Amino acid sequence: MTEQPHRMVAEQPEKMTPWDMFNLEVPQDHMPMHGVPARVAKAVVNSESWTDARPTMNLSSFVTTFTEPESEELMREHFLKNYIDHDMYPQLFAMEQRMVRWLHRLWHGPSDVTPYGTATVGSSEACMLAGLAHKWNWRQAREAAGKDATRPNMVTGGNVQIVWKKFLRYFDVEPRIAPLKPGNYRLTTEHLDRLVDENTIAVVAIAGQTFTGEDDDIQEIHDWLDAYEKRTGHSVPLHIDGASGGFVNPFCYPDYKWDFALPRVQSINASGHKFGLVPPGLGWVIFRDDKVFNKDLIFYVNYLGGEMPTATLNFSRNAFQIALQYYTFIRLGFDGFTRIMKQTVQNAVHLRDRLVASGLFTIMNETQRIPVVALTLKPEFANFNEFDISAKVRERGWVISAYSMPPDAQTVNSLRVVVRPHLNSNTLGILADDIIHACQWLQQHGGNATPPALHDTYKSSPAKC
Ligand SMILES: *Cc1c(COP(=O)(O)O)cnc(C)c1O
Repeated sequence: MTEQPHRMVAEQPEKMTPWDMFNLEVPQDHMPMHGVPARVAKAVVNSESWTDARPTMNLSSFVTTFTEPESEELMREHFLKNYIDHDMYPQLFAMEQRMVRWLHRLWHGPSDVTPYGTATVGSSEACMLAGLAHKWNWRQAREAAGKDATRPNMVTGGNVQIVWKKFLRYFDVEPRIAPLKPGNYRLTTEHLDRLVDENTIAVVAIAGQTFTGEDDDIQEIHDWLDAYEKRTGHSVPLHIDGASGGFVNPFCYPDYKWDFALPRVQSINASGHKFGLVPPGLGWVIFRDDKVFNKDLIFYVNYLGGEMPTATLNFSRNAFQIALQYYTFIRLGFDGFTRIMKQTVQNAVHLRDRLVASGLFTIMNETQRIPVVALTLKPEFANFNEFDISAKVRERGWVISAYSMPPDAQTVNSLRVVVRPHLNSNTLGILADDIIHACQWLQQHGGNATPPALHDTYKSSPAKC
């Protein structure tokens, strides 16, 4: 291919129309020498992403793919603001602070403390900040007691989202990961006595896990840690990864204790861009009390005018997601969130029941909390697997993930559908038919997908216990 970028453009760019795409060679290895009219550039960008998935049909993702026109208008009005510039946009900052208090209250934070928290780019940044706060608190307490503070560890289940493995490696904390087993995909207290010790900076339990949508056994873990403290004198904080559950549990299960209602829960993260219903780019971390967020992690900067505290991993970020989260809370209120989340869970149950009734699948989750359907193919269907089904329904445009479970349940494959609020029962009916038809076709013709080899991330990290 000759690399003669934008040939005719250089001659007469003003004459170009989107039709001139046919005459455009976009270079692979260097930027085009010459520009083109905006409409042409836009047409090129769109045409090159035609084969990408349709976000609304991507049921492998938890992230929001539907928003109201008013929210799009707000997005346009705010997306040229750099959120970190609190001196210039103090009211956006005030909205964030207000939402921190709202979330603290929503998650049953005590009323006699000063809540602390922040908006982040996603749960990943939120988890890292929480992990750092616990690491700092642990180290200071150890140093103050004249004890060794060089070997921090963190305890999680093998079902944790990848961010925790990143946190552990990037910030040098020893992973203590409880293995799963076929039939149990949650963190329980089973392995804690071999994993938790005086160097444990925190135990992370999940509300709404990525693999099966279940919650870890939060109450049981909490009580175990209470007993551990009584026995040993070591108080180990509990962090809840509520990336998904944080915006489902309060609305669907008001009496369920998974949050600050349990005294040992010191911090919670949630993804505003998952069931917080905001487009990609928003997470939250909320601490039980501002004392939990270690002050040594706060920096003060004066180069945007005024003196401003900052304690996030990222500095500059877009402001529109914060405006949109505020919009979403005001627009829907507690009632609206409750209606949407209850209906979405009901839709997930409906899809699950249809797929189970087909006789093809076994359900993987014991409890249904967030609207996720996790299935495994029954063993009698031996000539195709979950990966084949995922590939086959992709022909209809659906993206549903197939994956093998983390150790020691890696022999189990899962097919997972994240039911998001933009899907109604008719749409889910079409999906159920498509999955069942795919299986019927595969039964006749056989499949040939082999599960991808387990990557190191999954192989090496679980602690042997
Ligand atoms: C999605 C998710 C994360 C990571 O969150 P992002 O918002 O994608 O950065 C962490 N933990 C759990 C349980 C998740 O589902």
